[in-house]
Amino acid sequence: MKKFLLEADLHRIAQWLRFLGQDALLLSGPIEKRKLLKYLDRVFITTSRRLEGHLKAWDVDYFLLPRENWKVQLCLLIRYFGIKPELRLDRCYYCNEKLMSVDREKVKDRLPPLVYIYGRDFTLCPSCGKVYWKGSHHERLKSQLEEILKLC
Ligand SMILES: [Zn+2]
Repeated sequence: MKKFLLEADLHRIAQWLRFLGQDALLLSGPIEKRKLLKYLDRVFITTSRRLEGHLKAWDVDYFLLPRENWKVQLCLLIRYFGIKPELRLDRCYYCNEKLMSVDREKVKDRLPPLVYIYGRDFTLCPSCGKVYWKGSHHERLKSQLEEILKLC
């Protein structure tokens, strides 16, 4: 499976790629050779046509996205890389870390009361400590994804 590195402006796309179970890191700040060379095992996703010559010279594997609405951009990436358009929700939305299942009792004090009762499939990010669960937001994400897939 391809691993991704996205320029800072593409943060929404990075988060969505994580929803789809993809390993997607965000490059913080400006695009610099020194930083990119740390991630040569990843495809760099950028909208910067201006940098294309440099990326080639630095031998960086890259994919140039058109400057478009982020939903269209996401749709293009899903198609181009053959990403399965299915919500995996097995990575932390914020830090890209793989989530671990966790017993609801262990995270009880960090859950809203109704989530404690009705939520299911609780997971925990080992890096930032954020707790996730299955709930109504899944349906919203699903229909958003369906809309996105119609855009390209
Ligand atoms: Zn996290």
